[in-house]
Parts: sequence; structure tokens; C-alpha cells
Amino acid sequence: MESETILIKNTTIIANEIKKGSILLEDDRISSIEENLSTKDADTVIDGEGKVLIPGLVNTHTHLSMTLLRGLADDLVLDTWLNDHIWPTEANLDGGLCYVGAKLACAEMIKSGTTTFNDMYFYMDHVAQAVDESGIRGNITHGMLDQGDEEKRKAEYKESLRIIDKCHNTADGRIKVSLGPHAPYTCSTELLSWVRKKASQLGVRIHIHVSETEFEVKNIIDTYDARPFEYLDNIDFLDQDVLAAHTVWPSDNEMDIIKERGVNISHNPVSNMKLASGISPVAKMLDKGINVSLGTDGAASNNNMDMLEEMKIAALGQKVNTFDPTVLKADDVFKMATIGGATALGLSDELGTIEVGKKADLVLVNMKAPHLAPYRHPISHLVYAANGGDVDTVICNGQILMQGRKLLTLDEKVVLGEAEEAARDLLSRR
Ligand SMILES: [Zn+2]
Repeated sequence: MESETILIKNTTIIANEIKKGSILLEDDRISSIEENLSTKDADTVIDGEGKVLIPGLVNTHTHLSMTLLRGLADDLVLDTWLNDHIWPTEANLDGGLCYVGAKLACAEMIKSGTTTFNDMYFYMDHVAQAVDESGIRGNITHGMLDQGDEEKRKAEYKESLRIIDKCHNTADGRIKVSLGPHAPYTCSTELLSWVRKKASQLGVRIHIHVSETEFEVKNIIDTYDARPFEYLDNIDFLDQDVLAAHTVWPSDNEMDIIKERGVNISHNPVSNMKLASGISPVAKMLDKGINVSLGTDGAASNNNMDMLEEMKIAALGQKVNTFDPTVLKADDVFKMATIGGATALGLSDELGTIEVGKKADLVLVNMKAPHLAPYRHPISHLVYAANGGDVDTVICNGQILMQGRKLLTLDEKVVLGEAEEAARDLLSRR
């Protein structure tokens, strides 16, 4: 079979060194980066003049189908928000609704430059269908909760294994499946130990919320006489294949454990600020050499999935938290949203930087706009001045998903119409 080629010319390539040039994509990989490449043999040519080319952004903690719950309940404490609003509404979800919510999330992510995400939710084979159709790349997990109930625990094992069996490595390898125990305070030690054993056996990764609120930390200390990461280490749960979302309240000892075990962190500053959970000591964790990536969390607690906005808020949060404007510089936070995310998902050989041989997951951001003029250091502009609406073209796995802000794999009008209807349907079930 003939290979498909795409050439992007006249663009500013944000690689190790920032330079003007052309890039050739052959099927799903980057095959050449040069100052000037001939457009003659390329099947498709994209003019990158006035735009910068960045690696596709990696959102390492989200819940796609929660887009249907966007704006449903704001300005509440986490406990009330979850118990009185989110969980009762989620109880009425089904596969069809999760599929529609996930498709809306895929459209939103593509339109704001995300090409890879890490999800935890329910009805994940329906979510996988949306991911397959949209052309984006995703790591999905069935969220497991047993609250100490044995029947529930067995059902969670069964569903997790079913999703791995059905979806892992599907859609040309774009979809991977991990195990997703919700959190140490909602899962029994027995469940967590089973997850650890199965993940090692099956060679899949683990996605878990840890230390999101101070309340959670107190709860774990009361129950296990140890802080969350200490408890997880005591049961031999932690390893390099673990991604811990939030991690707002790690002690110095816990940060040492995180570093020693090679655990990856997903920092979710907007969600943590909106629910007033606190500000994670990200600058300190990065200083210790911990891999910290960036996530938006679900659209119900953000309320969007814009990784460009998330980068800015991550940087601002660290500065105000430490009273030091020199911490978490634009370059550092840009790395968190790209190679840091790829590393956190075990995909740093394939994604996260623009290099020959890596996957063709690329984003062109338009720099010709009043809020981005005059053109100076592109990473400064990307982090502090740009937003998701500046993303012009998105390529994932060598397929163009959006060009000139027009979605090519999804019909935006249909996606929006279906989402409105699904949200109405969901609320009418309460
Ligand atoms: Zn979450």
C-alpha cells in the first residue's frame, strides 16, 4: 500500500530548538524535518505561515462524558457537589449518553489542541467508540469504587477486565486501557491490591485520584494511620506505571515516596481552585525530579477542557502560592502539558515532542491575532496569551482532525445538537 504524506511548510517548529522549517509526515509518523522540503511529492500540503507547530497537548486527567454535566452545579464544596449533584445525576447515565458526552469532549479537545487524554469514567466501551470515530488518542479506564462492598468489588473487576479485553490497543493503537481505582478513600485495600497485581500481570497502567482534599488525607490517616501515599506504599501499590491525579496535599515524606517509586502526577489547577481543594506544591515536586503532568479534570469542575488555559493557570497558581514569580516558568509548564504528559502515560517514546520517528500528533496554533501581537517568544505567548480558540489545525496519528478550525472527523453541528438533547434527557431522569 502507498503511504500517505502530509507536508507542513513555512512554519515555526517548537522542538528542542525553535526554528522555521517544513515537516513531512508519512502515514502516522514524522519522517523528516528540514528548513525546506519539496512540496512536489506530498499528498497534502498545509501552509504554516503565521502559525507555530507544537506537539499535540496531553491532558492526563479528565472524565470525558462529564461534559454533559457542565455548569450543572457550581460554587459548592466538593462533598455537597459530589453527593447532592454529581453522583445522583451520574446514577442515571447509560452507554448512549456517555457516548454523546464523550463525542462532545473529543470535539472540544480537538478544537483546543489536545490530541491525547487520560480518562476515567463508566460505560467505557461507548466512550471508546467516540474516541475511535473522532480520531483522537486516548487512554481510558473504568472507574472502580467498592466502598468495602464485596459484590460491588467483584462487579468492578469484571467490568474492568471486560473493557481491557474489548478496547485495549484498538483504533490503530490509539486507544489504550488502564485500571482505574477511583481513590484510596472509595476503594478497599483488597481492591487496590487486586489492581496492583492485575496491572503487573496484564502490562496495563493505573490511573487513580490521590490526596485531592485535606478531608481525604484526614480520612485516610483515621482509617490507616498513614497519609495517602504512605498507605499506598505500605501496600506496595506504587510504581512507575501509576498516575496519581490531583496530589494537592503531599507531605515532604510523601513527595520522597513519589520520587522513589517513580509515580507520575497529574496536576489539575482549575478544578482544585474551583472546588477550593488547595494548590498542589508542583514547583517543589518538579524540583525533586518528580514527573508532573497537566490535566483539566472533568468539565463539571473546570468547566472546560482547554489545556492552553490550564497551562496559564498552573503557572499563576504556583507563583501566587509561593510568592515567587520565578517558579514554574512558561517553558516548564509547556513541558508538563506535552512531554510530561506523554511520560506520565508511558508514551514518551512516541509522543510529547516533535522529532523524526515519533507519532504525527501535531497542532498548528495561529499567531496572527491582536492578543498575540507583537510576535515574540512563542512559548511565552502559548502559555500566557493564547487560548484554545487560537488552535487552527490538529493532526493525530497522521490524520487531519481539524483544519482552519473546521472539524473533519466529526460534524460539529450534529455533536452539539446531540449533546443538548442528551443533557435534557439525563436531567429528566432525576
Ligand atoms: Zn477526577
